[in-house]
Amino acid sequence: MSSSISERISKIRSSIPSSVRLIAVSKTIPAEIIRSAYAAGIRDFGESRIQEAASKQAELQDLSDITWHFIGHLQSNKAKKALEQFQWIHSVDNLQLAERLNHLALQLGVNPQICLQVKILPDPNKSGWTVPQLLADLPVINQYKNLQIQGLMTIPPLGLDEAEIFNVFNTTRNLAKTIREQDWSHIKMQHLSMGMSGDYQIAVQAGTTMVRLGTILFGDRP
Ligand SMILES: *Cc1c(COP(=O)(O)O)cnc(C)c1O
Repeated sequence: MSSSISERISKIRSSIPSSVRLIAVSKTIPAEIIRSAYAAGIRDFGESRIQEAASKQAELQDLSDITWHFIGHLQSNKAKKALEQFQWIHSVDNLQLAERLNHLALQLGVNPQICLQVKILPDPNKSGWTVPQLLADLPVINQYKNLQIQGLMTIPPLGLDEAEIFNVFNTTRNLAKTIREQDWSHIKMQHLSMGMSGDYQIAVQAGTTMVRLGTILFGDRP
């Protein structure tokens, strides 16, 4: 890419509503490049591996107002580390994991921001709740008082056309609205984590509140 990272950030920032939170997905990106994105105004960074994130977070400790977002598949044996290193976890994809996070959050004295990952269409390559499973689990999730259940996260399956992608995002937004209107005492459901480099404009049209952008900011990953 010939443009600088700050040029790419300001171009994208100006093309999406200011209310949409731009999360820079910095997996595989070295700390010094994260530092230049920070200098260009980014405060939200997304990582998908606990170990890799830990070493970069150590190098970037002086940038104390970064919010770190975990976006990868979270194995239960890494749940404690995830809570120690990340303020947001976007990829909580089953009830057992949610229960474990709730339990560990109490022990650690943290109240993490959580998105529940949903699968709107069948996708053997992704984890996440199906819609009926999620609706059935809500009464239990509502009891996880140490988690701040902020919203839903989704990733459309590969190979969809634009209308089909819009449909996945729009269905996710409607699902969040349905859940919000059920007035759970501990489920907030104000956020949507939808949209990556290839489809974030569609996600914005469908009303997302957070986009997770890697390639379009940092270039192709190795
Ligand atoms: C890697 C990744 C992204 C960023 O993908 P790009 O296509 O590079 O923007 C977003 N979300 C998740 C869950 C990812 O794993």
